[in-house]
Amino acid sequence: MPVVPVVIDTDPGVDDALALCLALRSPELRVEAITTVAGNVPVEVATRNALRILDLVRPAPRPLLAQGASEPLKRPLQTASEVHGDDGLGGATALREADGRPRYPDPPIGPDRTDAPELLAEMAERFAARLTIITLGPLTNLALALRSHGPLLRKVGQVVAMGGALRVPGNVTPVAEFNIWVDPEAAAEVFQAGLPLRLVGLDVTHQVRLAARDLPPPGRCRGPVHPGHHPTDPGLEPGGGGRGDAPARPVSGGRGRRPDPLRVGGAPRPGGDAGGVHDRDDGGRPAPRPGRPGRRHLRGGDRRGGGAGPAVHPGAPVAVVVVGSANLDYTVRVPRLPAPGETVLGAGLLTSHGGKGANQAVAARRAGAAVTFIGKRGADGPGEAIARRLREEGIQTEGFLTDRAAPTGVAFIAVDPAGQNQIVVAPGANAALTVDDLRACGPLLRGGRVLLTQLETPLPTVREALRAGKASGMVTILNPAPAAAVAPEIFGAVDLLVPNEGEAALLADRPVGSVAEAEAAAGRLLGFGCKAVLVTLGSQGALLLRPGEARHFPAFPVEAVDATAAGDAFCGALAAALAEGRALEAAISFACAAGALTCTRRGAQESLPTRDAVLALLAAP
Ligand code: ADP
Repeated sequence: MPVVPVVIDTDPGVDDALALCLALRSPELRVEAITTVAGNVPVEVATRNALRILDLVRPAPRPLLAQGASEPLKRPLQTASEVHGDDGLGGATALREADGRPRYPDPPIGPDRTDAPELLAEMAERFAARLTIITLGPLTNLALALRSHGPLLRKVGQVVAMGGALRVPGNVTPVAEFNIWVDPEAAAEVFQAGLPLRLVGLDVTHQVRLAARDLPPPGRCRGPVHPGHHPTDPGLEPGGGGRGDAPARPVSGGRGRRPDPLRVGGAPRPGGDAGGVHDRDDGGRPAPRPGRPGRRHLRGGDRRGGGAGPAVHPGAPVAVVVVGSANLDYTVRVPRLPAPGETVLGAGLLTSHGGKGANQAVAARRAGAAVTFIGKRGADGPGEAIARRLREEGIQTEGFLTDRAAPTGVAFIAVDPAGQNQIVVAPGANAALTVDDLRACGPLLRGGRVLLTQLETPLPTVREALRAGKASGMVTILNPAPAAAVAPEIFGAVDLLVPNEGEAALLADRPVGSVAEAEAAAGRLLGFGCKAVLVTLGSQGALLLRPGEARHFPAFPVEAVDATAAGDAFCGALAAALAEGRALEAAISFACAAGALTCTRRGAQESLPTRDAVLALLAAP
């Protein structure tokens, strides 16, 4: 079989590093050159990592390495450090040998060149139709090369580009895949350039997973690199997923097979066997003939190794859909809550993840539900950290969108010795979650049993979420928090309205301090059109009112230290319990137990209890 000369354009990246190792060891390929591009990590980091890999694998002859674009064509770079770690290698650069030397040392020399687009053009000129260009990152270098050397590049045999999502959700937004999302202008130029282009999108790569159990034990691994080097390696399941494609780049190789990332993508043989991948062109027309300009999308894959995806995989049915806010919370303990105009000196600053939407999503997840979260964050470190946290909880985050203009929301929380709190929120990107965003989420929004939302995103968005939930036959819960006036027509789409005392008082325009007052206020709210009202009353428990029935649920006696997120725990647990089919009364008891347990610990998300803890409190004598 003839050896195929290839150029690999890459942004390593955990999975890129693995793909490079495998390509450099493949007898079917000869890696003539490597070009680096900004994407998963800044381009300097990508170059360092590519050099590191060359130093480790020591291919002979050594391919040329050129550093390329440090920024997308028209927009600032967004990296995926939450997936790949700051070093781009999942923290592997911190590993030490027994004698203290770094296991993957810094490369002693820099790249051969710093003009990746020129090197791409030179390779195209030299190898013409024999050359395959493989891109594993954003398409910036290729777009720049096309601008200056289009005719040369159109002579190459094949361009295999890792990117896009056709009939599956994207991994950054519901419709966008990371490599295309980072530099969409470059992608557009490449797609329109008339190259013999083959796209390998998430449709394929999400089906081709490399699990830790597929790897040989380190001791049985030939050569200097073992892809399972690090227990926190984000490129291996479980726990991968999300933007940056880490778990999903084309890595094949079931047990007993020689891994070859490019074979699965159908890369090495222009016109040849696609290695278990089914080809389709745009719109089902006959695929263009090999070597002829045109686009080919690869759909579906053959993992050949079995194994499960992440705990909650894209497209799976989810029980609870939460539409709402996500914030970074700054909590300070104060001797007393400040009066208007007063400054109170606090003690201890706790930085944590919050936002009613994210809190309730975590609460529902810990209570045992499969959860999808739909919300918006800024393109910043706090936003990335929040997204990572949610994924670590096992929450589906395809609908957690990124806003380019607004920062991630923040909340400032003061807590007094009795556990009472005062909260100020700067909503940032939460305020930019639009009705169109929800519509773009499509099946993500409609795929659950219970829809849970609050008032920390714009009202039209809340209304649309409730409408879409109702239209899809979901149970809809509105937690009208923070307290705000709401147009009455919104209540028609609400099955269960869950205000706390303050919110019930504001909406019903009457005081709520006792169970009796809560019942009177709930009666008024019921008149607005929701099916049932459940007022949470802090240490007094909760009051359910529905036509013909009022029922008080006393609180579980606990030693409260911080009431932050008690309502969120309550709402999330309530949604989870209803989603799993509990009757309303049983679900409310479950929620009361979750709320009470939350009060026994400081903070927001970190204080939300697990399902086991809730069940234990329910079962306690
Ligand atoms: P919010 O946080 O929205 O103000 P609440 O304070 O009403 O919500 O708390 C929600 C639920 O959590 C209550 O209905 C109750 O079941 C439980 N809870 C809150 N505070 C306490 C407490 N001090 N002791 C026991 N349970 C509590």
